[in-house]
Amino acid sequence: MKLVFATNNAHKLQEVRQILGSRFEVVGLADIGCTEDIPETAETLEGNALQKAFYVKEHYGLDCFADDTGLEVTALGGAPGVHTARYAELFANSEEGDASEGFTPSLSHDSNANMNLLLHNLEKKADRSARFRTVIALLYKGKEHLFEGICEGTILTERHGTEGFGYDPVFQPKGYDQCFAQMTADEKNAISHRGRATQKLIAFLNDN
Ligand code: IMP
Repeated sequence: MKLVFATNNAHKLQEVRQILGSRFEVVGLADIGCTEDIPETAETLEGNALQKAFYVKEHYGLDCFADDTGLEVTALGGAPGVHTARYAELFANSEEGDASEGFTPSLSHDSNANMNLLLHNLEKKADRSARFRTVIALLYKGKEHLFEGICEGTILTERHGTEGFGYDPVFQPKGYDQCFAQMTADEKNAISHRGRATQKLIAFLNDN
C-alpha cells in the first residue's frame, strides 16, 4: 500500500522506510511531484502536522502522514515550541528581541543562531530542563490519527559533539551523560522524540 510521508527530508524518509518493512511503499513529496511549499501556519505542533497531511490528501488524493517537532523549554514557558525551526529569526523581529540587551541575533534561521539565542535566554535561569516533542498526523482509510513522541532532557551550557542536526549539540537526554550530537544515529533514534512517535505510527500501521 502506498503511503506519502509529507517531507522532503531524505534522512527521515529512509528511517521510516527501514522500520516499516515491505507492506507499505512510503514515498516522499518529491516522489508525488509535490514541489510547492506546504503551509505550516498553525499555532501548535498538532495543527501543523495535520495541516501538512490534509494538504497532501486534498491536492493529491493519497493517504499520508506528516510530522512536526518542537523544543519545549520549561524556564521559557514552553518556548520555542512550534517556532523551534525559526527561533532566532522570529525573536529578532519581536518586541522582546528589540528589548533584549547584549544579544544581537543573526537574521538567518540556522541552527547556530537558534542555539546562541537559546543559550543566551537561559544564562540566568537555574532550571535548564526541556523536552523535544514530535507529533505525527496520519490520514488513513478516511480517518485522522495523532501520534506523539517525547524526549525529556536538559539544555547544556555549551555545545558538545559533532553528529546530528538542529539543537543536538546542546540537548542532553535525561539519564544520559552525552548530548544527542555525541551519539550515533542509532543510539539517538532509539530514544528520540521522533523515534518514539515513529514507533507508535508503525505499531498502528502494522495492526491496521
Ligand atoms: P521539524 O518539524 O522536524 O522540521 O523540526 C523543527 C525544528 O526542530 C528543526 O528545524 C530543528 O531545529 C529542531 N529539531 C527537530 N528535531 C530535532 C532533533 O532531533 N535534534 C535537534 N533539533 C531538532
